[in-house]
Amino acid sequence: MSDLIELQEIAREFIDKRDWRKFHTLKDLAMNCSIESNELMEIFLWRDLDFEKNIINGNDKKSLTMIKNEVSDIFFSCLAIADHLNFSLEDAYREKMSELNIRYDPDKVRGKLSKIPSPDKDSGR
Ligand SMILES: [Mg+2]
Repeated sequence: MSDLIELQEIAREFIDKRDWRKFHTLKDLAMNCSIESNELMEIFLWRDLDFEKNIINGNDKKSLTMIKNEVSDIFFSCLAIADHLNFSLEDAYREKMSELNIRYDPDKVRGKLSKIPSPDKDSGR
């Protein structure tokens, strides 16, 4: 069993022990994922680059803990969506990374910030 499958099972068990599945709709799970992402962004709101440098340099443990918590919340919501739709987040992630490796050929994009248009505008995110 992969670590990610085990983590997906931990999320499922957490939800089921609390009988929360009945409240889970795709809409609410997606909104939760977005809200948790916004909570991560809020940590950086109105902060200058020194704030980030202090976290990276290990001088702001409180903010690092806040970041870890929000990233974990985001991850949990991703696992919950995958579980709700009964797909493997590991497989989806591997497939997405394969797509990105093709779209962003290192020989073409190394060191560049320009965005490359998606080959399929309908699903190209
Ligand atoms: Mg949160």
